[in-house]
Amino acid sequence: MSGAENLNMTAKRVIPFSPPDITDLEINEVIEAMKSGWLTTGPRTKELEKRLAEYCHTSKVVCLNSATAAEELNFRICGIGEGDEVIVPAYTYTATASAAIHCGAKVIFVDSRKDSTEMDYDRVAEAITGKTKAIVAVDLGGIIADYDKLYKIAEAKKDSFVPGGNTDLGRRIQTAKGRILIFSDAAHALGAEKDGKMAGEFADFTDFSFHAVKNFTTAEGGASTWKDIPGIENEEIYHSYQLYSLHGQSKDALAKTQIGGWEYDIIGPWYKCNMTDIMAAMGLRQLDRYPELLKRRKEIIGKYDAMCDELGVKHLIHYTENSTSSGHLYLARIPGASDELRREIIIRLAECGVNTNVHYKPLPMMTAYREMGWDIRDFPNAYDYYANLITLPLHTRLSDEDVNYVCRVFRRVIKEMRI
Ligand SMILES: *Cc1c(COP(=O)(O)O)cnc(C)c1O
Repeated sequence: MSGAENLNMTAKRVIPFSPPDITDLEINEVIEAMKSGWLTTGPRTKELEKRLAEYCHTSKVVCLNSATAAEELNFRICGIGEGDEVIVPAYTYTATASAAIHCGAKVIFVDSRKDSTEMDYDRVAEAITGKTKAIVAVDLGGIIADYDKLYKIAEAKKDSFVPGGNTDLGRRIQTAKGRILIFSDAAHALGAEKDGKMAGEFADFTDFSFHAVKNFTTAEGGASTWKDIPGIENEEIYHSYQLYSLHGQSKDALAKTQIGGWEYDIIGPWYKCNMTDIMAAMGLRQLDRYPELLKRRKEIIGKYDAMCDELGVKHLIHYTENSTSSGHLYLARIPGASDELRREIIIRLAECGVNTNVHYKPLPMMTAYREMGWDIRDFPNAYDYYANLITLPLHTRLSDEDVNYVCRVFRRVIKEMRI
């Protein structure tokens, strides 16, 4: 070991888990938005939508105040609600499931494949009933799920699919698709690619999150996008999102500023989850920087991969020949570690200044879902994945020295624990 490295080793650092990466570019744009006289949904939100659609290679994007709202509105646009079943992985964040519940649908959890964060696709097929209207895949950690498989499953069950929908637009969408709808919770995956397609191009409807801990942030925030549907105008779908997200009010605040434009109608007692121009200002400048941010994530992941491979610690594979993850989360699994030992390791790392996390404690372990009757014993693969998992800090505020420090501390703790 060189003298310099030795010195670094003794100097304790504090490594936060996932701080936002905000520069003067974002700060100045927010100031401009605040000075412009237009604070809520307006020109900056519309510009961000346009640029995100270009970036995702989709026709339209709708910006909203969260991914949860985006996913909920995706279901509502498709007329999914009471009496419908929605298949969701047990291994995800609560929002993936709760958005369907908000619409009145019943969530059906499916276990993961062994040693995978993805659903077991055979079990997805088995979970389908006459009531199944949607399957939600999660691009966990920024890695795009296997949508080809999901479309195949939905196509294979086409004959037993009865289009429903609690709205006229929803009925028309379900009829046009003629099969179970595929949704993507791409909260982690903005900018991820697979087989030459961008996140947003895979599922029938996709949601993204711009929450402060995500790769790309507007403080809170999220967006929806979708694949073009033959026979249904994108403008109609877009307008429907506007109505759902703004009280069912026939004109938004900007349209009301037109001469004589005071009068509006309320066509449904709906929701309030629009994006503000202050948020969009931050997003516009984040988007300018985003390709660089993704590149930096890739560098850090390369270093973590080398360290984990050397230690025999399993990790997500973010980059393959045909896919590039958005590099959102670094999930590392300590071989042979029990839940208790994993908890001890997390504490030891934190004592050394390295803040980690766990993504995710499976939903059937959470009180709300337990009370609905779900039991983690029915999801052994999700449990096993969780039990020895530690999520390492992965963000673009990490310097090379920070990354080296995390690697050194992690190596030392793993060896100390004699794993
Ligand atoms: C963060 C997250 C969400 C929710 O995002 P919000 O923008 O906070 O609503 C949904 N799904 C997953 C997998 C997430 O990690």
